Amino acid sequence: MASNKLQITYRKPGRLLNPASGYLTGYTHTLNPYAGCAFACTYCYVRRLPVALFHQKEWGTWVDVKENAPHLLEKELRRAKQKGKVTIFMSSSTDPYQPLEVQTQLSRSLLEVMAKNKPDFLFVQTRSPLITRDIDLLLELKDRLCVSITIETDLEQVRKTLSPAAPPLAARMKTLARLKQAGLPAQAAISPLLPFSEQFPQLLKEVVDWVCLDDFFRGDGAQGKRTEKLGIKSLYQQLGYEDWYTPDKFTEVCALFQKVFDEHRVLISQQGFMPFGIG
Ligand code: SF4
Repeated sequence: MASNKLQITYRKPGRLLNPASGYLTGYTHTLNPYAGCAFACTYCYVRRLPVALFHQKEWGTWVDVKENAPHLLEKELRRAKQKGKVTIFMSSSTDPYQPLEVQTQLSRSLLEVMAKNKPDFLFVQTRSPLITRDIDLLLELKDRLCVSITIETDLEQVRKTLSPAAPPLAARMKTLARLKQAGLPAQAAISPLLPFSEQFPQLLKEVVDWVCLDDFFRGDGAQGKRTEKLGIKSLYQQLGYEDWYTPDKFTEVCALFQKVFDEHRVLISQQGFMPFGIG
């Protein structure tokens, strides 16, 4: 669990746009304004990646802010676009709208750069209502954008147990509604799928046009092995959630969502994180 004291360090990155690979192979680049994430979700697979292991401090207790990022992005984006199409996933190993963003406005400054020199596609992944602050800039990118809001369950008790530092679910529902109202292409990412109530699909249908479903077995980039190493399986057993920790449960849940949404409005795993509408 993250402590209350967040260690903030300002660092100059070697580069800002990194080549995308693995699960995000449909993109040319990933863009992470920060390293580390104060939301500190227990199941976050980034805990097992080199960026976190290198730090040797508990995940969620530190955040590195990338200095000079807008200037670097401007330069790198210009160069990348000279070479071909540029599709960007923001962000693959941090949340670009974690609490620190209120002060730094770093993600906002990167959107400003991209609104001036547009990539061919931008995917913004967050679980934070703070993204609504930047609706003005997102609208400038609207024809080449997907905003994806993580909402893994509708049960606040489950959220408090598994990601206590993350924003409350009601606020995320409101965020989805605001994005839709603003006319932005937005999806709910039930990723990773956590135990939820029967009403969840219907509640989501009121605020989004499509959803993406993912679980620990497909979404952690290692067929569930990273998640298992984090001790999530035994945590599920302790909490009595073990029925939810199986690949079969995912199949059942997909069918449930497909009943409420049209089949083509339920994207599965990687499919839900791919760029679309690129000519
Ligand atoms: S918000 Fe995302 S990056 Fe941050 S801790 Fe949670 S899963 Fe990891």
